[in-house]
Amino acid sequence: MLQDFRVRQRDFLLEISRAITAQLELSEVLRRVLNASVVMLGGQLGLIALRDSSGTYRIRATLGIMSERVPELGEQLNALLEQEKLDYESFHDQLTRMGIGLDRRMRQSFALPLIIAEEPLGFLVAFRATRGTATQDDIQILQSFADQAAIAVHNAQLYERINVERQQLAAILQHSADGVMILDDEFRIASFNRALERMTGWLAEDAIGKPVAEVLTWKRLEKGDLEQAIVGGWPLAQDTSMSGEPLYVEGDLLRRDGMTQSLAIIYAPLFHADGRLRTIIANVRDITNFRQAQEMQNVFISTISHELKTPVALIKGHAATLRRDDVEFPPEFVREYSGVIEEESDRLTELIENLLTASRIQADRNLKLNKDDVMLEALAKRVIERFSTQTQKHRFVLRFAPGLSPVPGDEVRLRQVLDNLVSNAIKYSPEGGTVEIGAHDDGTQVVAYVRDEGVGLSSADQSRIFERFYRVDGALSRKTQGTGLGLYLSRAIIEAHGGRMWVESAPGNGSTFYFSLPL
Ligand code: ADP
Repeated sequence: MLQDFRVRQRDFLLEISRAITAQLELSEVLRRVLNASVVMLGGQLGLIALRDSSGTYRIRATLGIMSERVPELGEQLNALLEQEKLDYESFHDQLTRMGIGLDRRMRQSFALPLIIAEEPLGFLVAFRATRGTATQDDIQILQSFADQAAIAVHNAQLYERINVERQQLAAILQHSADGVMILDDEFRIASFNRALERMTGWLAEDAIGKPVAEVLTWKRLEKGDLEQAIVGGWPLAQDTSMSGEPLYVEGDLLRRDGMTQSLAIIYAPLFHADGRLRTIIANVRDITNFRQAQEMQNVFISTISHELKTPVALIKGHAATLRRDDVEFPPEFVREYSGVIEEESDRLTELIENLLTASRIQADRNLKLNKDDVMLEALAKRVIERFSTQTQKHRFVLRFAPGLSPVPGDEVRLRQVLDNLVSNAIKYSPEGGTVEIGAHDDGTQVVAYVRDEGVGLSSADQSRIFERFYRVDGALSRKTQGTGLGLYLSRAIIEAHGGRMWVESAPGNGSTFYFSLPL
């Protein structure tokens, strides 16, 4: 009989440890532990209560107890455990009374704490209908059941925490604006996030499992080269840490759809403790904007220096000629040369004015306006007066609706807009023709325009000419001076007034630039 009992004890222990190692669900492990413990004790009822993060005990497994009794039992158990200065005797008395409350035949109770690293995780409670003393052996066996249960609970909690963290990490990776990719120890793609799908044109499901060199093919490498680095022995484990020297690669990627995409990638290797490569985490950044900014800077410096040099050279040349004391110049010659100096100085001033405005707009999008009532027609007249001295080929026409309302605006800024538009109308109609300026109002806004009979604009160029530094790539604009700032500034000024600026044009058929100003 005793022999039989010992064998059963061993069987139970085996069953419980198997349940734990088979990574069964926590509730199943708890059920088996409880079952074994109650049977071992010759009991009839039992429960396991676990402490949650707030310190409250919750009943997670029961044996022989009707489910509708569980909430009330949980409250009783918490009330019991909250009592201060609870001695062993009265604890067991009260526990036994709980058992009797469930089934009048109950006579005795057992409570085993589930503890891991001195942390109380919960309790295993068993009730039985007979009274007797449990032997030292019984207690030991039961405690080993409880220890097993504690391990299972602890594992389950760790597993849950890891799972939550893994989910969080996966969400961060998936939704990161940067591309993130994980490579295995043979440089094959193990993970590929959404940002990377966007940057490379590859779907994660197609990319995963492929060697990285097959997915990331470069049209042009600017810095670093993964394949060469690998040939050269990269990555090497550093002695003291599990990580190694990262590799930086930058260039233009050939996307799967044949387009190109500027990318910068940092490959960071991770190693096993013995120095073998474990994985490589790659962080990929879209550097298109950075590249554009760099290019814009280059364009800016070259056009500005060109634009500054030309008038300065003309001014210097003409002034130097006039200064010669070995020649007596006739008065009309002096007048002509001084005229050139004056015009070129004006051009310099205008250029500097435009640059200042552009940098102010860059710094904060709000352009400060000194508003007043502006009579557009009078303003246009003054602009034309200035330009008509500079060209013989162009005819200027004003077509303003009679009684046009004055517009609330900044006169200096609006003059800058008209100057730019008329100057362009002249520059981009090298054969000459009519330049017409006009406006009408509809009670809510004034719409003004500058029309020329020049080279016109393709629709592709029409959509880009208002960008900063954009100049149409053609023989004419290469010959004519300009910075590509005029229209950018003009539109910014009009938008600061609450208006809009747009263009209607066709190649070879002239252009009309419109702007509206709210009344
Ligand atoms: P810029 O004239 O200094 O080059 P803008 O910003 O004033 O700079 O104009 C940008 C580009 O738009 C010009 O380089 C030119 O190619 C085109 N453009 C502007 N105005 C006209 C026009 N009236 N007719 C044809 N093309 C124009």
